[in-house]
Amino acid sequence: MKPRILVVGSSNTDLRVRVPRIPTPGETVLGSEFGSAAGGKGANQAVSAARAGAQVTLVARVGEDTFGQMALEGFRKDGLVLDYVVIDRQQPSGVALILVGPEGQATIAVAPGANSRLSAADVQRASKAFETAQVVVVQLEIPLTAVQRAVELATLHRIPVILNPAPAQALPGELLHQISVLTPNAREASALTGIEVKDPASAAPAAARLRRRGVSTVIITLGEQGVYVEAPRVRAHVPAYPVRAVDTTAAGDVFNGVLAVALAEGKPLLEAVRFANAAAAISVTRLGAQPSAPTRAEIEQFLKQHS
Ligand code: ADP
Repeated sequence: MKPRILVVGSSNTDLRVRVPRIPTPGETVLGSEFGSAAGGKGANQAVSAARAGAQVTLVARVGEDTFGQMALEGFRKDGLVLDYVVIDRQQPSGVALILVGPEGQATIAVAPGANSRLSAADVQRASKAFETAQVVVVQLEIPLTAVQRAVELATLHRIPVILNPAPAQALPGELLHQISVLTPNAREASALTGIEVKDPASAAPAAARLRRRGVSTVIITLGEQGVYVEAPRVRAHVPAYPVRAVDTTAAGDVFNGVLAVALAEGKPLLEAVRFANAAAAISVTRLGAQPSAPTRAEIEQFLKQHS
């Protein structure tokens, strides 16, 4: 039986240009190749979870346009359950403009479009999917009311929720109390706590502060420095796998989607983190968001080579 994951979140089309350096305001920089690929945090996490071996239901909105059609086609290829993906007739599909710098680091501007109309009612319509899901995954590229309803329904059905608080925004205390696993990156952890997070040592007090606000498990992702984890009886720095990064777009999304699968399969927390780290490491060696998410076989092969 495949683990069952429910992802409520955004779908975008990423338009990507590689640049020798990130332009300063008002400046034009000549880039190299252009690429477009399916992206959006919710969709990236859903596709990553499906490739890692889960049956994934996605709750999302796309526009009635070519980008939306292309996104749906990709989701079908990855076997996502699309019963709760709404085709929005008022707003275009979400778009992300991405500049990839020389070290593979991405600078991104997002036009949310249809994602901004994903509503609590859309999530409520998917209530049946909450009855069978084992892990629910949400992020913050959709309205907070939709996130809140997803968390309420998960709580009602006693399903653990992974909240990837990206992009960062202030979160109601009541919401945090219902989150099983919070997965900010360094920048988001800094924004949420006011503590400057830049390495495992500075992640520790930020994680402790977030746990005091009611989150059970805090996993702060630190890019090539790996992950800092704090949970009941667990405090650990799990290093990243050394790879040559070419595009870190969606590293965090791959991490979250695959983490959900590992936890739904009952892997112990640190083993689940290592599994997700391996998937994210593979993804940074490839261009694009959804195209970079590895298959289960690739993750297992990578772990064998790096054990
Ligand atoms: P985000 O993509 O959300 O900004 P991070 O940059 O923290 O998140 O990356 C998420 C995870 O992806 C990291 O914890 C790590 O496991 C993996 N990762 C990111 N960058 C690298 C890298 N350069 N080398 C190896 N793994 C990486």
